[in-house]
Amino acid sequence: MLEFPLRMTWVRRTAGGVGLTAVAMLFAGCATGGGDASSEAATVSGKLKVVATTTQVADFARVVGGDRVRVTQILRPNVDPHDYEPSPADVKAIGEADVLVANGVGLEKWLDGVISSAGFRGDRVDTSQGVKIRPGNGDEEKEGDPHIWHNPLNVKIMVAGIEKALAAKDPAGAAAYQANVAAYAGKLDALDADIMQQINSLPPADRKLVTNHDAFGYYVDRYQLAFVGSIIPSFDTSAELSGRDIDDLVGEIRKTGVKAIFSESSLPPNTAQTIGREAGVKVVAGEDALYGDTLGPPGSDGETYLRMEEHNTRTIVGALR
Ligand SMILES: [Zn+2]
Repeated sequence: MLEFPLRMTWVRRTAGGVGLTAVAMLFAGCATGGGDASSEAATVSGKLKVVATTTQVADFARVVGGDRVRVTQILRPNVDPHDYEPSPADVKAIGEADVLVANGVGLEKWLDGVISSAGFRGDRVDTSQGVKIRPGNGDEEKEGDPHIWHNPLNVKIMVAGIEKALAAKDPAGAAAYQANVAAYAGKLDALDADIMQQINSLPPADRKLVTNHDAFGYYVDRYQLAFVGSIIPSFDTSAELSGRDIDDLVGEIRKTGVKAIFSESSLPPNTAQTIGREAGVKVVAGEDALYGDTLGPPGSDGETYLRMEEHNTRTIVGALR
């Protein structure tokens, strides 16, 4: 089916505020509305059908696969991945995929159910394989901290996993995939060095982070920031926040002298603004919000993984200086 991934990409890039159900219905209309199966098959020949779950791993799959693959991305920019509910279109795409690329570490709680109902028979890549996972907090997060992409050195491991899977399905493309990964690894090293230099330009006493939810642990570890706390005291954005949590965080912000609270693009900034007012510190939100769980839409500062991390670093350093 050629029409499907193409149209889905278009719908999702342009749908903006349209809800997922509406997108699914639009898609269903496209899919059942006709199309010549034989001409679709002819056009799609030669391209590996890759489905990627999150915006980050979809970006990595596009980088590694280049023009030998067609990537269908399940999550849209600025949609919270922690409580995602798959659409019928997602099930269909996964059923037809040659390779399925996932983040892993429990981020895609919906995926096992979809795989079994979709009749998926391709290869599944868990990009977290080989990454050193930070521990989780309690039973809810027993698999650990899923936000592995916020350390560019982890991303080198993630893209190597994707390369291996693509080369196994498409041996003729192995050299191309290897070259794409080698070029990208150079960019990841440069990104890592740049972030290190920018964070190190801050006075040590100012290297303190308060964010919307606990998404930046790998970044904090790699660049040696102090994590003071998060508005939602969890990796999972659906966790409840008590009045006492808010008082504790306000107290901690005052005590440590943190200069800013960072909101995230995929989460509402309201509670962050309340806490910022109470603690008397600025809240970085709106256009400047950090890209925590998802990339931004095309044309935004967060449209690729590399740009997302550059934006986050520029914003953090600018607000804490
Ligand atoms: Zn998250």
